[in-house]
Amino acid sequence: MQKIKYKNQKKSYSILIGNGSINNLSRNVSHLCPKTKKIALIVDANVPKKFKKILKNKLKTYETISFDFSPSEKSKSLNKVNYFLNLLSSKRFNRSDLVIAVGGGITGDVVGFVSSIYKRGINFINIPTTLLAQVDSSIGGKTGVNSIYGKNLIGAFYQPKLVIIDTAFLLSLPKKEMICGYAEILKHSIIKDKKFFSWLQKNTKNILLKKSKELIFAIKKSCQIKLFFVNKDVSEKNIRMILNYGHTFAHAIEVKNNYSKSITHGEAVLSGMMLETKLSLVRKICSKNTLLEIEKIYEENNLTYTFKNYLNSKKLSELLPYLKNDKKNDDEKINFILLKRIGKTTNPNSNKISINNLKKYCKAISQY
Ligand code: NAD
Repeated sequence: MQKIKYKNQKKSYSILIGNGSINNLSRNVSHLCPKTKKIALIVDANVPKKFKKILKNKLKTYETISFDFSPSEKSKSLNKVNYFLNLLSSKRFNRSDLVIAVGGGITGDVVGFVSSIYKRGINFINIPTTLLAQVDSSIGGKTGVNSIYGKNLIGAFYQPKLVIIDTAFLLSLPKKEMICGYAEILKHSIIKDKKFFSWLQKNTKNILLKKSKELIFAIKKSCQIKLFFVNKDVSEKNIRMILNYGHTFAHAIEVKNNYSKSITHGEAVLSGMMLETKLSLVRKICSKNTLLEIEKIYEENNLTYTFKNYLNSKKLSELLPYLKNDKKNDDEKINFILLKRIGKTTNPNSNKISINNLKKYCKAISQY
């Protein structure tokens, strides 16, 4: 079992990573939430049923109530939040009781947000079950839901008591969802850790094949890198923006495709990282070699399909109108995190580019 710590002035909690790490759940709960009597277990409906049984069994000394949640961007809503708040109220949960989320990023975001506002904050444990949730969304304390005006517009920063990452959940995860989480792992290496990137050059296949040892190593490294940025900038004012590398174009791709399920967030991020690296090259911020190194990892692992649609300048320029709504922009220009070399990005707010200039760059980008 691997353990890493989230720590800032106000709060600290552990992230446990392993194969079978849910086995100690009961001991962890009694240690971290000694006053808890009732537990609400909110479980993603696509997590194999056996896990719900195992978890309920482990918590049998508590009054445990379990609820299924069918995750979709539509159900990531204030309506669902209200539904869960009412459930907790009707079962008379109080602040010293506990809510546990078991599921992907949507489940974790919704249940975390419910926990943050129920009686102004009830104990919360997150058990992420997709690779994306294990390497990204369960780390950092961002919780929330979508509104009719856009994704993740309503929310709160709320840290859990504990995060338990168990790779056993990944066995049932479809390949497309594995690739989705892998995109964030690759991103973490590119923005911060050249050595980890070299390790990924050799081990990406094993991650996608769900080999436990490699998964645990990659998840741990990834969480550490995300925590590095989160700890420096908990409320996302500056340095944390570096985590958005690849996400500016990714966001435009997702919006343009109406968040269609045929392109996962991670696949959009894989396209976005490639486009933003090409933009870095066109602006002479990184070398051709950096681009080739990244491209090689895509080629060797059959991931080039993610950016094939954006190889010509016409297709690329069709994305530009969708860049404007990105959260990082504070004026008319688009605020990019670009790449200097593997392991090092530009600083936030140092590359704000107008749509007119981006139009000019499209042709040059498509030549690479
Ligand atoms: P998701 O929650 O929709 O899960 C993807 C699919 O996998 C779903 O159909 C789910 O039911 C299924 N699933 C979950 N666990 C499974 C398992 N063990 N076996 C089989 N199927 C399983 O999507 P996601 O990619 O996990 O998360 C995406 C969400 O995370 C988005 O809403 C995004 O906004 C959010 N997010 C949040 C943060 C943050 O910091 N809070 C960061 C990144 C992304």
